[in-house]
Amino acid sequence: MNIAPDQVVSIHYTLKDDSGKILDSSVDGEPLTYLHGHGNLIPGLERELAGKSAGDRINVTIAPTDGYGEYDAALVQSVPRRALKGIRDLRVGTRLQAQTAQGPRAMTVSRIVGDLVTLDGNHPLAGKNLNFDVEIAEVRAATPEELSHGHVHGPGGHHHH
Ligand code: ZN
Repeated sequence: MNIAPDQVVSIHYTLKDDSGKILDSSVDGEPLTYLHGHGNLIPGLERELAGKSAGDRINVTIAPTDGYGEYDAALVQSVPRRALKGIRDLRVGTRLQAQTAQGPRAMTVSRIVGDLVTLDGNHPLAGKNLNFDVEIAEVRAATPEELSHGHVHGPGGHHHH
């Protein structure tokens, strides 16, 4: 079965940056299982997987525009430390939710100099090329329930409560 919209796909993947550093990998755990064609993966990777079948391996580089977006300097702001009162363990790398004019946004503390804390609202992988090694483990048709929800159910997928 070839990967097409409305199929459930399980993949093992290793993601590296351009220096070869491993950023994420499923290889020591469960495969990633997703519903193809519903925006559950970054667009560049979905496009590369289309038409492949179980057992295929691909090795692709996804540019930022097809991944987590270009790095946007406008999403970086500095605030006085007192504005973050109540945030425990405030240090470089701390993730927090900030209120912005566009609503709540996940921010990462990128710098602390004296009383000034720099918050970066970019995705941690924004602006980076994403180098994926992928092995397709399984391809199956989605159930009607999965299609109506737009995501996968069962092992490796989303679980209902
Ligand atoms: Zn569901």
